[in-house]
Amino acid sequence: MMKVIKTITALQEEIKAYKQANKTIGLVTTMGALHEGHASLIKAASEENDVAVVSVFVNPTQFGPTEDLDSYPRTLDADCRLAEGMGADVVFAPTPQEMYPSADMTWVEVTGNITKVLCGATRPIHFRGVATVVAKFFNLVQPDKAYFGQKDAQQVQVLQRMVRDLFFPLELRVMPIIREADGLAKSSRNTYLSAAERQSALILSQSLRAVQDSFAQGERTTAKLLEQVTNQIKTEPMAVIDYVSLYQLPDLTECPVQLSGRSLLAVAVKFGNTRLIDNVILEDK
Ligand code: AMP
Repeated sequence: MMKVIKTITALQEEIKAYKQANKTIGLVTTMGALHEGHASLIKAASEENDVAVVSVFVNPTQFGPTEDLDSYPRTLDADCRLAEGMGADVVFAPTPQEMYPSADMTWVEVTGNITKVLCGATRPIHFRGVATVVAKFFNLVQPDKAYFGQKDAQQVQVLQRMVRDLFFPLELRVMPIIREADGLAKSSRNTYLSAAERQSALILSQSLRAVQDSFAQGERTTAKLLEQVTNQIKTEPMAVIDYVSLYQLPDLTECPVQLSGRSLLAVAVKFGNTRLIDNVILEDK
């Protein structure tokens, strides 16, 4: 039977028992409203470790003052059923008070280009909130492996830096983007979309597929690849572009005029009030 744990004390007791029994632990951190993207992470965590722990926590510190903290979907009962179905042993669903007991607190902040570009430009406190809460979960759960989705490509780079810089003794596993049959990347925020917005949003995956084709056919000029994606997205009248950007991995530094190595083409586009992100990695095989 999967356990649903709400307090830090109870979680620490459970983790202590796992450690004493020499069990390996896989961790999946989520904000709930679980879908097949999360499910793929939980399944991998349960298959690759003795036990799988899933956190469900809408983390207030990663939302800006005008963002959707209050309206973010909260569906704990359904989340527990999905997590259990994927093989989770524990769902940890703390209150904000448990995770942030005092207004005076310690932040974990990754600095540099990696948190300034892309989503960092319009969400200045977002990655500090993510790094801080993930560091707390790492310390509480002490996972051998922690699972994150390539859907949030910048988050993956930020957390890889944090793990390296703070010597967290764990392996970060990055899992592929799970999409709807028509290509839309699965996201808890897709539920905000009207039918018309949902249809328009297909332009994201379509434009990323097209640019992958251009790259495969030999196009390497950074400006041309960016222009192709931008122009294709602009054919959708409902799409309001936040960014269409190309950066070099792993540290999200500027790309040269001609791409080389491993690069991230990432987009953030608003459809009505809903901001969606998607990305593709361009890399010579
Ligand atoms: P969230 O609940 O949005 O914070 O996401 C929790 C984890 O699930 C993060 O590591 C995300 O990158 C991952 N995730 C969300 N959507 C997808 C998706 N469509 N495919 C793969 N992983 C995803």
